[in-house]
Amino acid sequence: MYDVIGIGIGPANLGMAALLDDEDVTCCFFEQETEFAWHPGMLIKGMDLQVSFLADLVTMANPRSRYSFLNYLHEVNRLHRFYTFEQFDIPRREFNAYLTWVADQLASCQFGMKVESVVDGQEGYLVKVRRLKDDAVFEYQAKHVVLGTGSKPMIPVDVPDAALPYVTHSSRYLDQQKALHEAESVTVIGSGQSAAEIFLDLLQYQKTGQQLSWFTRSSEFRELKTAELGQELFTPKYVEYFHSLPYEERLNTLPRLTGLRNGIDASTLSRIYQELYHRSVSGEDPPVLIQPMTELKEIHITDHTQLELHLKQWQINKEKKMKTDQVVLATGYKPNIPTWFQAYEPLIEWESEDHFKVTEDFRLVFKDKRSHHFFTFTHLDHSHGTAATNLKLSTYRNQKVIQTIRGEKETPKKQETAFQQFNE
Ligand SMILES: Cc1cc2nc3c(=O)[nH]c(=O)nc-3n(C[C@H](O)[C@H](O)[C@H](O)COP(=O)(O)OP(=O)(O)OC[C@H]3O[C@@H](n4cnc5c(N)ncnc54)[C@H](O)[C@@H]3O)c2cc1C
Repeated sequence: MYDVIGIGIGPANLGMAALLDDEDVTCCFFEQETEFAWHPGMLIKGMDLQVSFLADLVTMANPRSRYSFLNYLHEVNRLHRFYTFEQFDIPRREFNAYLTWVADQLASCQFGMKVESVVDGQEGYLVKVRRLKDDAVFEYQAKHVVLGTGSKPMIPVDVPDAALPYVTHSSRYLDQQKALHEAESVTVIGSGQSAAEIFLDLLQYQKTGQQLSWFTRSSEFRELKTAELGQELFTPKYVEYFHSLPYEERLNTLPRLTGLRNGIDASTLSRIYQELYHRSVSGEDPPVLIQPMTELKEIHITDHTQLELHLKQWQINKEKKMKTDQVVLATGYKPNIPTWFQAYEPLIEWESEDHFKVTEDFRLVFKDKRSHHFFTFTHLDHSHGTAATNLKLSTYRNQKVIQTIRGEKETPKKQETAFQQFNE
């Protein structure tokens, strides 16, 4: 029996695997994809990670770990160049290369293995895993399990089957990049970081005559807040405070914090504006349409080849129909809870119909008393706040879980994490 089995290998569970390597905790992590890849459809050239490189898999918990980003740079002979680069924001493609380098070294990480069910076993869990290359099914036992299945695309409107070839969610952008660069007209929907990066990429490759449009339902193309005191809301101290609030208060607080998580980083916004400005010098503005306050209501297809978008400017209540060859839905993600999880729904406690109860150390709360735990790193906004999926706090989340698995009461050295206080 393993001490812990992790379901899904993204940065969350990969960090857990790295921290547990060489420890006396037996573990195994399963990933359905055949190799490690961090949001591969969005690894657009020239785009940066939105947190410092210090948010690697281990440093904030154990700066001496050999799985640190700096050790990666040392091993792949990039450390001197990185020193001269002098930036905390690293290319997202480099972060993916670093994560892949770690995953390749960890025997506990198995790829091409889809977890098909988890059920209660004796003093633990039975985890059924399908090896996708030959359909072989294996059953493993674990004392604890960690759900690290991440998120899945959110599609805000119905898409007719015939329209599917012309509709791309941002998570698959690179798969369709060539077709999008070559299309006669492309429309981007959304105003988060992904939407802005995609719009910038399309703008940079815009061919003569191509119509580019960008709509968002939001009232503006909002900049992400990055001031230091605001960033202290991404610290363990604030997360612990947020978790201690009553459920209703936590829900009320989330929208007030959206500016810290939802928005576009200043440099991406600036690069878009620079591109537009420089191109306008020649007197001929490029055929670009950018419009906030406009919601995508419906997608239709005409003649089996062209999309017709139904849009509504909500402030003046004006509806319009627009033809476009391709649309990119940068409309976000929702928690990816596997269907087999339904079996656990009656066994656990809920804060509401939509939100299961999660302890501060990321455990689901079972109606029966048990010492074998079911941890989750997904669907945590309501319990742990706006920092729930932030990479900076990934090592903190892992430390908390490992501490509980080990039965430790306190972290060996309690770190001060913010200047502000929240609960006085
Ligand atoms: C494009 C993009 C960029 C982001 N950039 C940043 C950033 O710069 N900074 C930041 O702080 N946050 C960022 N985030 C938010 C967040 O940090 C990431 O989404 C992060 O990848 C979450 O890690 P995770 O391990 O929880 O999930 P994921 O990375 O989504 O990994 C989950 C894995 O589980 C696997 N899986 C699912 N079901 C099963 C199953 N049944 N069996 C086996 N495997 C399964 C999936 O295939 C997937 O590989 C970004 C998010 C996106 C979408």
